[in-house]
Amino acid sequence: MSLIAGRKRRMGDEDAEQQSKRMKLTYGDYTIGWVAALPEEYAAAEAMLDEIHEDIPRSRGDPNTYTFGRIGGHNVVIAGLPSDGYGTVNAATVANNMHRTFPSVEDFLVVGIAGGTGLTKNADVRLGDIVVGDQVIQYDLRKELHDQKFQTKAFPLRPSERLRTALTKLKSTHLKDGSKVPTLICEMVAENPKMKSFANRRSLKDFLFHDTYNHPELNNTCDNCDRSKLVKRKRRETNDPKIYYGVIASGNSLIKSPEKRRELVEQFQALCIEMEGAGIIESHRSLVIRSICDYADSHKNKSWQPYAAAAAAAFAKELILAMPISEDQASKMGTCIAGGSDYSQLMNSS
Ligand SMILES: [Zn+2]
Repeated sequence: MSLIAGRKRRMGDEDAEQQSKRMKLTYGDYTIGWVAALPEEYAAAEAMLDEIHEDIPRSRGDPNTYTFGRIGGHNVVIAGLPSDGYGTVNAATVANNMHRTFPSVEDFLVVGIAGGTGLTKNADVRLGDIVVGDQVIQYDLRKELHDQKFQTKAFPLRPSERLRTALTKLKSTHLKDGSKVPTLICEMVAENPKMKSFANRRSLKDFLFHDTYNHPELNNTCDNCDRSKLVKRKRRETNDPKIYYGVIASGNSLIKSPEKRRELVEQFQALCIEMEGAGIIESHRSLVIRSICDYADSHKNKSWQPYAAAAAAAFAKELILAMPISEDQASKMGTCIAGGSDYSQLMNSS
């Protein structure tokens, strides 16, 4: 190993000084790639790291800007999309560049916010809930026919077997012990006080309006929207995010249409709609993790984005902590420990 040594949160100056003597990492030491599109998503991703490593010099031909760090026993590299650049092509380019620069990255996570499909026959997806993509469908991959008819060419794409077995383990832990997502969000804010808005769920309102009721164009918020047009939903016992596993619809359009939302539910049983996952999963068998920040209709606004970004990032961290480390990582750790490094202490401190 050659470069690292950054800072570890929850440490005093003495610990930080000790940390600066630690091992250094190279491109080949990173095994998990985390793609975040928006600044809120990127901030939440960084805040979930147990430790942030020092930067590695830019690889020739790779325009990505990375954050390097560790979650549990895994070294994680985070990349964002270009500012104001979104959509499946931008996402695919970022992931391809990451894969070229970090040949040891085997697991890709696409983590962030999405529009939820609300109350349907099969699910009751609400703001702040988490949707994990067992399948991702690029819904706008289609053949246009005459008279505005079209034929869908989309087919479901699934994450790698390794990611799916990790999900099985995590689901089993959730059945026994529940999810750590709420705790991880609280810890994130405790360690990053400026991110208070990322955990500020209680001040947020969850309005799901009927398909036929549109938001008045001149209003910035839904405070004056007609509450008699709200979809009636059962009260939940807890405000903690519910976790759904199922179909994520991915495409290049920003959807603010209840008609399109309904179409995606009827056609694919989609739980949410986003704009990056399909660009990465086809080449990299990635797992798409989303949390709901709006209902993809005219009432869409940004108030839930920070909380949803935090919820998705917290789930990603919980999953990473459930993933076994590889033999290569284990042997590197053994080398470090044998060589007098305090890496074992580092591992136990998370
Ligand atoms: Zn509204």
